[in-house]
Amino acid sequence: MKIICIGRNYVDHAKELDNPVPKKPLVFMKPSTALLINNDPMYIPDFTDDLHYEGEIVLHICKNGRHVQPDFAAGYYDKIAYGIDFTARDVQKQCKEKGHPWEIAKAFDKSAALSKFIPLEGLNTKNLKFQTKLNGEVVQDGNTKDLIFDFEYIICYVSQYFKLHVGDLIYTGTPAGVGPVKIGDTLEGSIEGKELLSCLIK
Ligand code: MG
Repeated sequence: MKIICIGRNYVDHAKELDNPVPKKPLVFMKPSTALLINNDPMYIPDFTDDLHYEGEIVLHICKNGRHVQPDFAAGYYDKIAYGIDFTARDVQKQCKEKGHPWEIAKAFDKSAALSKFIPLEGLNTKNLKFQTKLNGEVVQDGNTKDLIFDFEYIICYVSQYFKLHVGDLIYTGTPAGVGPVKIGDTLEGSIEGKELLSCLIK
């Protein structure tokens, strides 16, 4: 199982971190050891002083495939979840400055929080509201209509490089409003008003 992640997939988020808006999806991966499930608490790793949340919609891949074509892409995911792409922002900044890969800033243990999945029935994936709350206050208010590269485009794009397997996950990018967490904070995530994830920072 692999976790594929898309960076800078919402214009307002790319701008808030002074990044250019990409012309192609920005892709990175996390290993399976990054998964944080069952509403388990997150800890702040000792190598960072600036752990950020990035609330995202996560796709569950339900079919093996490579070079998926646009007409078929929608059939490659069967359910979605709310996830947090935890990021050591200070470490990422150093990686970016040096032109180094991002793994130590993005793919460390428990850096991929994942809620339970919800089925796609009755959902319009082109217009899905999702929110992140920090200590009860809404800090991210996203909608998939603002995606630069939509779910189907992402599936076609990444499957040119990596064969998709059943059970793979795709973190589709975060909207504006990312920020740091401290010990004692609680993050909550919802899709279409349905509370799906609660994560205590320890
Ligand atoms: Mg992200």
